[in-house]
Amino acid sequence: MNITEYEKDFYILDNGEVRAFLIIGETRAVLIDTCYEKDHIIEVVNQLTNKPIEVVLTHGDRDHIGGLHNFKRCRIHIKDSHFIQCPISISYLRSKDQINIGNYCFEVIDIPGHTYGSIALLDRKKKLLLPGDSVQKGPIYMFGEHRNLDMYIESLNSLQYIKDIQIILPSHHEYPLGREYINHCLEDAMALKNHELTGVAHPTMPCSHYIGKNIEFYY
Ligand SMILES: [Zn+2]
Repeated sequence: MNITEYEKDFYILDNGEVRAFLIIGETRAVLIDTCYEKDHIIEVVNQLTNKPIEVVLTHGDRDHIGGLHNFKRCRIHIKDSHFIQCPISISYLRSKDQINIGNYCFEVIDIPGHTYGSIALLDRKKKLLLPGDSVQKGPIYMFGEHRNLDMYIESLNSLQYIKDIQIILPSHHEYPLGREYINHCLEDAMALKNHELTGVAHPTMPCSHYIGKNIEFYY
């Protein structure tokens, strides 16, 4: 696992496929997502801090909750809580909840679509958005029962109006991205919905690969 100190006390933990974020405050630390089980993120976290850890999940896909069983409690949106199968204390994240940690003050924003319980974390002062998988170059996974393209489009549409976003740190692929990627995702998701993109069947997964102007999808 690659560890980058992005800013003081803000670490990006990256296995090359997915990343998590660790922010160390004075008395506790917040871990945002936990990568795959095979990544043993607890060991990486223990290298960086011995403070109590609060786990916050951007959504319930398995590459985000894999390391969860090594922690005591986590916070996730109620609509994604069914993804969690390990015995852990869960409290629910709600829109507009505040998560204050170190120099960061995050607000929870509901962005259903990629999953029904997807959330983004926004620090308005730093103009920083952690969108989980919902804003990234992709391929963004949009196939399967627990995803909804119409809701995804609606969520991006509402994100667009938040002026306090400049820097986006997604969980996959290139980072940081600028705020224009919200619109890139929106435009290409609309094209996907309107059948303007041509899909190529994926060799192993039950979906097709669509390449938009800026963003790719599995749908
Ligand atoms: Zn995901």
